[in-house]
Amino acid sequence: MSTTLKDSYNRPIRDLRVSLTDRCNFRCFYCLPHGEPPIAPKEQMLSYEEIEYVCDIFVELGIEKIRLTGGEPMMRRDIEQIIFKLAQLKANGLRDLALTTNGYFLPHRALSLKDAGLDRITISLDSLKRDMFRIMTGVDVLDRVLEGIAAAKQAGLQPIKINAVIVRGHNEEEVADFAAFAREHDVKMRFIEFMPLDSGHDWSREDVVSGREIRTRIEGRFSLEPIDVHRGSETASRYRFADGAPGEIGIIAPVTEPFCGACSRIRLTADGQIRTCLFSTVEHSLRDVVRDGASRGEIIDFIESVVMKKEPRHYINDPGFVAPSRSMSFIGG
Ligand code: SAM
Repeated sequence: MSTTLKDSYNRPIRDLRVSLTDRCNFRCFYCLPHGEPPIAPKEQMLSYEEIEYVCDIFVELGIEKIRLTGGEPMMRRDIEQIIFKLAQLKANGLRDLALTTNGYFLPHRALSLKDAGLDRITISLDSLKRDMFRIMTGVDVLDRVLEGIAAAKQAGLQPIKINAVIVRGHNEEEVADFAAFAREHDVKMRFIEFMPLDSGHDWSREDVVSGREIRTRIEGRFSLEPIDVHRGSETASRYRFADGAPGEIGIIAPVTEPFCGACSRIRLTADGQIRTCLFSTVEHSLRDVVRDGASRGEIIDFIESVVMKKEPRHYINDPGFVAPSRSMSFIGG
C-alpha cells in the first residue's frame, strides 16, 4: 500500500461509500417519507467515468473497501459497468467491493452484478410481514425482495447481509423473528438504530429502539456469543448463535453507543460531494475540483485536506444537534 489517508485525529480512512444516485423506488418512512425532493439534473451527477477516476485515486490513497449505495443504486442503468470498472481496482489495493440495495431488482440482476465483479451485497429488509413491510417502505413488494435475497444467494454473492432499521411501534416485535430468519437462511442480520436522517425531520428519540433492547429481545429466544470484542472500525457489534446455528447477528447502535472513535469512513454523494461524516452539515465538492481540470496531484491534495476536516464524532446526543439537511437517500447510507 503506497499511502494511508489519515484524518487529524490519526484515524486511518479505509472505507469509501459511493452513492450512485439520489433516486429511489421505495418510500421508507424513516428516510424519504414524502417522496423524492426534486431530482438534481443529470449533469450534476458524476458519470461512471468520473466515479471510476476518483475511486482510482481513492484506492491509491489507501481506500480498501468501496460500498456502492444510494438512493437505490440499482436504479442506475450503468451499475454493472461501474462495478466492472471498480473491480479492476483490486489490482491496485482495493480489497472489497460491496453494494447496498433494497433488493427490488435482484431477482433478474443478481447474477449480472456478480459477473461484473461485485464481492458482497447488503439487502434492506425491514419487516417479514407484508403489511408492516408496506407501511415501512411505502411499497407492497415483500415477496419480490425475498426473491431478490434468494437470487443473491444463488448468484454466490455471499456472505449476504440483511439490514433492518428497527423503529418503535413498527418492527421491534419482529427482532427475534429476524434472528430466526438469519439462522434459517444463513445470512448476517444487521439491526440498525433509527437515526435522525429522515427527510421529513420527524425523528424522535422515543422512536429509537436501542441496541441493548435489540440484543435482549434476541436473547429472549436465542443465546448469543460475541464474535470479536475488539471490533476495530466495524460498525456492528457482532454475535454468533451459541448453539452453533448458521447466520450471524450484528447490532449497529450509532445513537446509544456511538463508535466514532474508530470511524474509517468517508462518503461521496451522487453529485460528487465528499462528506466526512453521516451527520456532516458541510460538504466538499470533489466534482467541481475534477471538472475544473485539476491535475491528479491537485485532486489528491484536495482529498487529503478534506479528510483532515473529518469531525471527531457525531453530535446526535448533544442539545444543539442539527440534523443534516440531506436525508440518507442523498447522503448514501
Ligand atoms: N436503497 C438502498 C437500500 O435500501 O438499502 C441503499 C440506500 S439506503 C439509504 C441504505 C441503508 O440506510 C438502508 O439499510 C436503510 O435502511 C438505511 N437508512 C436510511 N435511513 C435511515 C435512518 N434514518 N436511520 C437508520 N438507517 C437508515
